Amino acid sequence: MKFTVQQATGHDTSHLTVLEEYGPNCLMTPATAAAFRSMAAAAQKDGLTLMPASSHRSFERQLVIWNDKYLGDRPVLDWQGKKVDVNTLTGVETCYAILFWSALPGFSRHHWGTDIDVAAANLMPPGYQLQLTGEEYGAGGIFEPLTAWLNSHMEEFGFYRPFTDEAHVRVGTELWHISYRPDAAQFEVLITPDLIRETIKNAQIAGKSCLLGMADELYADYIARSASGN
Ligand SMILES: [Zn+2]
Repeated sequence: MKFTVQQATGHDTSHLTVLEEYGPNCLMTPATAAAFRSMAAAAQKDGLTLMPASSHRSFERQLVIWNDKYLGDRPVLDWQGKKVDVNTLTGVETCYAILFWSALPGFSRHHWGTDIDVAAANLMPPGYQLQLTGEEYGAGGIFEPLTAWLNSHMEEFGFYRPFTDEAHVRVGTELWHISYRPDAAQFEVLITPDLIRETIKNAQIAGKSCLLGMADELYADYIARSASGN
């Protein structure tokens, strides 16, 4: 399938298919959906019920998250999960603080339909509120068996983790975030520093002037580093 810039930046979902078994908002590219379903079937045989906690997210949705965080209406957390007081930071510092756990609108891998935050439904106690934290997915956490299973098997199905310690200094390790490499690689090549500038310029985004000056750095630190070739 040939993907477009509009699809890469979360403005167009015409390339996506709904996975009805996970609800009306669970959207993926057809190839990602097929790979995820195969992987879920294999995991089920090993006693794990995979569940996409989040798959596709639109530009508008990511923009609301960004603006809320920039304006202090939604908590911004540091690498240890502690709340950051954005009122004490400069504009550029605020952008970097948000970027540790949240993508820039237009440049979230969740726009593509190739990336999934995955949990295991059968490991959660009734009424459990999913957090997506290192505590849950790391050693001793409730999803430790899921992390171990993904470590051993996800590559057979074409998935990898783009956000890991090895690849990053500016973003957190997300053991729950997996990416379908064959399709994600096609989106990665559509993203350029100019596309970042153009998208920011046209958006009602908080911190716009700071972000416009940061476009080349944002590309290097947040797009190129998580690329599937790394
Ligand atoms: Zn994610």
